[in-house]
Amino acid sequence: MKVPVWGCVMLYSRYFIPTTKETPSDAEVVSHQLMLRAGMIRKLASGIYNYLPLGLRSIRKFENIVREEMNRAGAIEMLMPSVQPAELWQESGRWSFYGKELLRFKDRKDAEFCMGPTHEEVITDMVRREIKSYRQMPLNFYQVQTKFRDEIRPRFGLMRGREFIMKDAYSFDVDSSAADLSYEKMFNAYMRIFERCGLNFRAVEADTGSIGGSSSHEFMVLADSGEDAIVSCDACRYAANIEKAESPLFTRTRDEELKPLQKVSTPDKKTINEVAEFLGVAPEETIKSMVYASDNGDLVMALLRGDHELNELKLKNHLGWDEILMASEEQIFACTGSPVGYLGPIGLTKEIPVIADRVVQNMFNVVLGANEKDQHYTNGSPGRDFEVTCFADIRTVEAGDACPRCDSGKLEMWRGIEVGHVFKLGTKYSKALNATYLDTNGKEQIIFMGCYGIGIGRTVAAAIEQNHDENGIIFPIPIAPFHCSVVAVNTKDATVMAAAEDIYHALERAGVEVLFDDRDERPGVKFKDNDLIGIPIRIVVGSKGLAEGNVEVKIRSTGEVLALPLAGVVTSIGQMIDAALAAKE
Ligand code: ATP
Ligand code: MG
Repeated sequence: MKVPVWGCVMLYSRYFIPTTKETPSDAEVVSHQLMLRAGMIRKLASGIYNYLPLGLRSIRKFENIVREEMNRAGAIEMLMPSVQPAELWQESGRWSFYGKELLRFKDRKDAEFCMGPTHEEVITDMVRREIKSYRQMPLNFYQVQTKFRDEIRPRFGLMRGREFIMKDAYSFDVDSSAADLSYEKMFNAYMRIFERCGLNFRAVEADTGSIGGSSSHEFMVLADSGEDAIVSCDACRYAANIEKAESPLFTRTRDEELKPLQKVSTPDKKTINEVAEFLGVAPEETIKSMVYASDNGDLVMALLRGDHELNELKLKNHLGWDEILMASEEQIFACTGSPVGYLGPIGLTKEIPVIADRVVQNMFNVVLGANEKDQHYTNGSPGRDFEVTCFADIRTVEAGDACPRCDSGKLEMWRGIEVGHVFKLGTKYSKALNATYLDTNGKEQIIFMGCYGIGIGRTVAAAIEQNHDENGIIFPIPIAPFHCSVVAVNTKDATVMAAAEDIYHALERAGVEVLFDDRDERPGVKFKDNDLIGIPIRIVVGSKGLAEGNVEVKIRSTGEVLALPLAGVVTSIGQMIDAALAAKE
């Protein structure tokens, strides 16, 4: 057993666990409700929380797992400040790009600063001053630190806070293939971290978003309340965030003649389903056309098979736009001359790019809007009736789609909570901040970077979201605030108290993190609280059991109740905990 981190006396009566019966009305998800009810956290302001003793213990337990695995992977711990000067953000270009999530303020001399939402700028500045030679790399720095992001909708407790604890790491390498190795090391470390916590998770391919860079994976804890939709193949290892998931290419050979294009009247039929039903065709035999605008007012038309959904992020990435917006009615009218509901690529009044999903390439004799109120075309075919600027993968995948990577698999859909994110950054920040080194020939080269984040509080919340029942939290042992508790059934019975105290001390000496429930309360009250706060193993000491030389041991996760002989109980408990904490080599 390991030596306990907290060696002090852990008497429930002297500790601070303000549990409540009522479910707080402003807590929407179970983990938030339970963290409040278990007395782990208390709100100070929107998205800003006090970590009460029990909550902090879980947080620290998880941080330590993260630290062990970061150190094991060769990352070096340091600590950067929360307050960051604006100049660095102006240098990287993110001062204007980051928007309102960045909390900015001025000091007494009117110099501008922000509260760090992430630390690429600060670490790159440190590295450009200190790293001169290829000999000093690879390097990977990490920290466990408080971030601030002025989230538009802080919610779900620690899951989406404004102030929150993150582990962030940054790797520095001489070239792209060396950076790939650093990325792989972090990826593997993340796999170990979430496996050690006993979480059901997936590592999924993800969009790189505003941090930039070339490729990334998100680590998703599976939970119905998750904000992200993810897909995974039921046959191979492919898994991706739905924002990014590649759609399979349907190939279809034309088995009928191209029929002549025909304009038909479709009075008041605007949606794909209305039009398809009215014309007696399946939605798959229609094309829907949508107009999108950039923040500069550039317009494009996107074409999709009628029953498919557009993936705005894919379209935005394809176009290289900073932002993508639904075009306004005026913008739509300016390029189509038509009201919404009848849009199509034939007869546009202004030339704009037409981006079609790849599936459209194989469609023919289909229904399209005619850019005229109450009018559609039938028997439209790309190439003959309208030109497409470019075919691209712009649709959102669906459950049951064929896997884009293997021959036999189908995609399954899940909800997930993003607890970690790894990015290959390439030279995005090192170039902007001019972080260079001298190579073996003494030539100046740009450093290659990666960045790697884990939400500490969010992971603890996600663990609760995944592990609970109607009685409360079911903590996985590695991140439980205590491994076990000793509950004295009747505190007035001196024999019971003496036996309970003996077990408690013996467990502490054996390195078990144990909470001694010495409160003068009815056993039912104590059991309820122990269940609520998620104590994995409960040892109940009562006069009846003692008379037979036994104590009762209840396993929170399975509900299993064992009568264990007093003599061997410390060893048995120690073994159970060791087994749960054991990390794979
Ligand atoms: P999200 O899409 O959920 O906003 P993000 O992409 O902004 O996350 P990153 O910048 O990759 O997140 O941050 C790294 C990790 O920090 C995330 O994987 C997540 O676990 C955690 N995190 C991000 N934002 C928050 C927040 N507001 N509250 C708590 N944890 C957060
Ligand atoms: Mg975010």
